[in-house]
Amino acid sequence: MGTLYEAVAAVRDLVSMEEAAAYYGLQFNRAGFAVCPFHSEKTASFKIHKGRGHCFGCGWHGDAIDFVERLYNVSRDEAVRTLIRDFNLPVSLEDPGTIRQRQEMYQRAAALRAERERQRREEQERLDAYHAALDRFALYDRWKRDYAPQSPEDPIDPRYAEACKYLEAARAVSIERG
Ligand SMILES: [Zn+2]
Repeated sequence: MGTLYEAVAAVRDLVSMEEAAAYYGLQFNRAGFAVCPFHSEKTASFKIHKGRGHCFGCGWHGDAIDFVERLYNVSRDEAVRTLIRDFNLPVSLEDPGTIRQRQEMYQRAAALRAERERQRREEQERLDAYHAALDRFALYDRWKRDYAPQSPEDPIDPRYAEACKYLEAARAVSIERG
């Protein structure tokens, strides 16, 4: 049966280690480490590098399929099925189809992955813009307090002037984006 081999290839193309880790509940800290689900630990030592998960504690290493296989202690076949189900993938384990159908399946899979990647980038850009707006708002807020003239005779600090000018706009963006 060549179907499992093809399904494995398709699923590997479609579900990254990052996506699987996020879906099955791993939470990564700022340094990119998560608590390993495969051994008992207090310090997070599970990291994803070049598409593979690696645990510096127990030495586990693998991709999304290996991950599910180990996480649920199931066969490779069942791990592939689990990913197909959980990620709603256009892949069938039972019906390998014709070569043409398989090509179409791969194309759909590639298109789906490209679309997901585009959405991820868009969301990241949106988040970056929002954080930049928040940072600007915090900066102007601080300038407005720190550089405010103490008496009418004081010269206007350019930072105070800029903060007055842009604070409301920065606030509006940070509220709107949030
Ligand atoms: Zn581990």
